[in-house]
Amino acid sequence: MFENLSDKLTQTLRGIQGRAKLSEENVSDALRDVRMALLEADVALPVVKTFIEQVKTKALGTVISNALNPGEQFVKIVHDELVHTMGDANDALNLAAAPPVIILMAGLQGAGKTTTVAKLARYLSEREKKKVAVVSADVYRPAAIAQLQTLAAEVKAHFIESTADEAPLAIAERAVAEAKKQFADVLIVDTAGRLAVDEAMMGEIRSLQDTLQPVETLFVVDAMTGQDAANTAQAFNQALTLTGVILAKADGDARGGAALSVRAITGKPIKFLGMGEKSDALEPFYPDRLASRILG
Ligand code: GDP
Repeated sequence: MFENLSDKLTQTLRGIQGRAKLSEENVSDALRDVRMALLEADVALPVVKTFIEQVKTKALGTVISNALNPGEQFVKIVHDELVHTMGDANDALNLAAAPPVIILMAGLQGAGKTTTVAKLARYLSEREKKKVAVVSADVYRPAAIAQLQTLAAEVKAHFIESTADEAPLAIAERAVAEAKKQFADVLIVDTAGRLAVDEAMMGEIRSLQDTLQPVETLFVVDAMTGQDAANTAQAFNQALTLTGVILAKADGDARGGAALSVRAITGKPIKFLGMGEKSDALEPFYPDRLASRILG
């Protein structure tokens, strides 16, 4: 199936060896294979349509080279278009601003937001040698603050205390002052998630963004929700100025459908993939690596 897409395409196109060009007739079966694979990976339909059109245009304009057979050539066109649809290159976090660089985290409940805060804190301290402070402005879910405290201890990030009876904005402002006092390079602010997009939550995170003026506002989304991930990301993107997306639980989405849809629909870069529950399971997102994984 999707894991073997490149084999399947090579097989479908085996018959056209020796022709000078990939023609409409001989690529139509291969395009159907790609379309099926994308739909099975739960890529949003408009994204599939645009993708197929782009691949078709490129394939029909391609002269078969001597070095590659038609199947390999078509696979390369699909690969390159996957890379392009997912944003071409890695888009790193903007850490060059005056410290503390504020990173605001947004997302629905259960998406993996709090876990991702800890992963990001660990990544920034180990890989970028940053001093990281974290705070939770989630005053609604009783266990949320304690969960972040435990995770912060595990990844050795500075945990800024907060309590459920404080207002999220007050917590955020206090945390910035404290992060400055601690000479933290980065302050990551965890926020409340809801089960679905609702106005109250959007209003609250919007006012946090207005007050904090974060350098990065990252949307954490569950990759296993496929095209719904893209729709949720777009709803947040319309309410907030997102600077990037983190696809959590990408270890459960080998088919990569969410990555394609999220990037194509929101236009925002995917900056990291969450690849497991442990605090070291965070990888910078490289479109070419995922494209290769998708093609198998
Ligand atoms: P929040 O409500 O958005 O803060 O979500 P949590 O951080 O509490 O995560 C919800 C669940 O998803 C937890 O059981 C996490 O261990 C799990 N989780 C988070 N990120 C990942 C990931 O990248 N891969 C996997 N497999 N599980 C994850």
